[in-house]
Amino acid sequence: MSRVYNFSAGPAVLPEEVLKEAADEMLDYKGTGMSVMEMSHRSKAYDTIIKEAEADLRELMNIPDNYKVLFLQGGASQQFAMIPMNLMKNKVADYIVTGQWAKKAFQEASIYGKANKIASSEDETFSYIPDCSDLPVSEDADYVYICENNTIYGTKFHTLPNTKGKTLVSDVSSCFLSEPVDVSKYGIIYGGVQKNIGPAGVVIVIIREDLITEDTLPGTPTMLKYKIHADNDSLYNTPPAYGIYICGKVFKWIKKQGGLEAMKEHNEKKAAILYNFLDESKLFKGTVRKEDRSLMNVPFVTGDAELDAKFVKEAKEAGLENLKGHRTVGGMRASIYNAMPIEGVEKLVEFMKKFEAENC
Ligand SMILES: *Cc1c(COP(=O)(O)O)cnc(C)c1O
Repeated sequence: MSRVYNFSAGPAVLPEEVLKEAADEMLDYKGTGMSVMEMSHRSKAYDTIIKEAEADLRELMNIPDNYKVLFLQGGASQQFAMIPMNLMKNKVADYIVTGQWAKKAFQEASIYGKANKIASSEDETFSYIPDCSDLPVSEDADYVYICENNTIYGTKFHTLPNTKGKTLVSDVSSCFLSEPVDVSKYGIIYGGVQKNIGPAGVVIVIIREDLITEDTLPGTPTMLKYKIHADNDSLYNTPPAYGIYICGKVFKWIKKQGGLEAMKEHNEKKAAILYNFLDESKLFKGTVRKEDRSLMNVPFVTGDAELDAKFVKEAKEAGLENLKGHRTVGGMRASIYNAMPIEGVEKLVEFMKKFEAENC
């Protein structure tokens, strides 16, 4: 068996320890004689799995008691509709568009009400985060929406926008559990887990209780009401049971690493290795404004599409996989999520130096 260094943006690298543990438990989960995949979601064993997962997440993120944790399906994209359907009481919401995912969420919300684009960085290919200290937040906005870490473009909000008292809703799919957060600053903080936490198919929604009401837009399907899932502790119907089990293992792994403070330190160290090299390289160039750089997704280019392709190909041969940039951006992108070991980034930079020497 040989594992590669996997720089995929998502689904992405998971801790090897977690994968091994899951493999060990595949045929017989803790003496039950069955796999978690084969188990009733109403069983005692599964009840413990999902309750522990929630408790560990609450501990890691220090989630206040007046927030619910929901394990749902449909990916992050389902939330693009679910959020307006549940929150748009005045049918008005403000969106800060800093990339493709925020744009998709904005477009989806426009189906259900008046979605206002109050800031954007599209003028410079989403390579920066706009100044959000004094935006024209709508008087009657039900919420202000951001995508906190832009997976495709590699930018991150290092300061949350001034929402002027309005509820903040944030998509944290690609920076989930990468550093400490103050949950109390958000109305909803949510993310698909396949970037930094677990297998695709699970989306985690952390939502302040007062936002969970019966008062949803007319025609909202039962499955898209936060209230039904909150009232049933994420077990209204069969949840993505195996995925949640893996998420739970990753939560325990992060706790063992020292929690989110330690994760942040580890991620800053890794990202610095790559960014420091990009800043001094004669061949490679980072594409993001320095102060807005993400710790998780690092896009870079040589400026020559052919050379980019050659780099991606030769990197793959060297065991460094999935470095091709998003199809809308080109170039390269290294996603260096929590589970990417520091050696992976060191190997990448070593390879980039060699490639630069050979091609410059
Ligand atoms: C990947 C991603 C999504 C889409 O996730 P799906 O689970 O495929 O719907 C949304 N937002 C961000 C920030 C992402 O990185």
